[in-house]
Amino acid sequence: MVTGGAGFIGANLCRELTSRPSIGKVVALDDLSTGAAVNLAGTNAELVEGSILDRDLLDDVVAGADAVVHLAARPSVPRSLADPLASHEVNATGTMRVLEACRRRHTHLVAASSSSVYGSVSDLPKHEGLPTRPLSPYAASKVATESYVLAHQSAFGLPALVFRFFNVYGPLQPAGHAYAAVVPSFVDAALRGEPLTVFGDGHQTRDFTYVGTVVRVLADAVLRRVTYANPVNLAFGTRVSVLELAHHLAKTLELAIEIRHEAPRRGDVRDSQADDSALRSLFTGLAAVPLEQGLSETVRWFRSL
Ligand code: NAD
Repeated sequence: MVTGGAGFIGANLCRELTSRPSIGKVVALDDLSTGAAVNLAGTNAELVEGSILDRDLLDDVVAGADAVVHLAARPSVPRSLADPLASHEVNATGTMRVLEACRRRHTHLVAASSSSVYGSVSDLPKHEGLPTRPLSPYAASKVATESYVLAHQSAFGLPALVFRFFNVYGPLQPAGHAYAAVVPSFVDAALRGEPLTVFGDGHQTRDFTYVGTVVRVLADAVLRRVTYANPVNLAFGTRVSVLELAHHLAKTLELAIEIRHEAPRRGDVRDSQADDSALRSLFTGLAAVPLEQGLSETVRWFRSL
């Protein structure tokens, strides 16, 4: 069962899971607040429309599941600055509800945290032993997510694994709304011949991970029932500035692109780069899709819309 299964990462994961012969059935539980049923078209996943905050519904869906991947959340830093309590309710309280449903059945759980938990910690690369210093309500709610999951693991023996996603990008990630992530915003603007909006000087860095790589790791984690006592970074240590990203995109599209700078955004971290040693020790032989290839796939998807 995938919470948030109709969202960007969730629907890509449902597609990956339904392609694995050893997995019988995949259920996506999603309230469609930012996800969409159409994202699941062409997969054999079953969509259950509803909220993780609905205890009875959640219990019913978890009762039929061998494993749960918990991706449902109110994502995005700016969204959490606009409405901190709503982020808390879904990301922290919602996670507690998922945990309690899993605890009742001792169901293996894989949950999504975020690199934003490192916040103002400036050390690079970010390794999981660093402290967490959230810069936004979203980041704080993800600290709560991972703390609750790991506490259920140690207090109740719940088999669980928490990943810290960095900047995931790829097909199904939407553009054209106020909270859109940088890759889809850039691709969408470039294909429309509009300038790319860069917040701040553009030298802030991110560790971009192609969604196809992320969902392969998630599927392996589920199938092997991987557990771990600490959060695990799910990114590969490739550090790219926002301006470099724009140049990579210009090369992919073979277009000249124009950049428009706006004021830096509150709550955004300056630099990001994952230490991937814990990930590589748990998942041997991993090969990440390189940025150039991932951007080409993303552009191909945008052009198909
Ligand atoms: P997304 O918005 O596409 O997916 C979230 C999904 O959760 C959506 O389909 C939404 O409708 C659903 N949802 C929200 N509230 C719900 C509720 N109460 N009950 C049921 N479903 C609900 O975002 P995404 O990028 O696919 O993010 C998936 C997860 O990964 C989130 O937990 C997010 O915080 C985390 N994450 C994503 C990134 C990234 O770069 N995309 C980075 C770090 C962490």
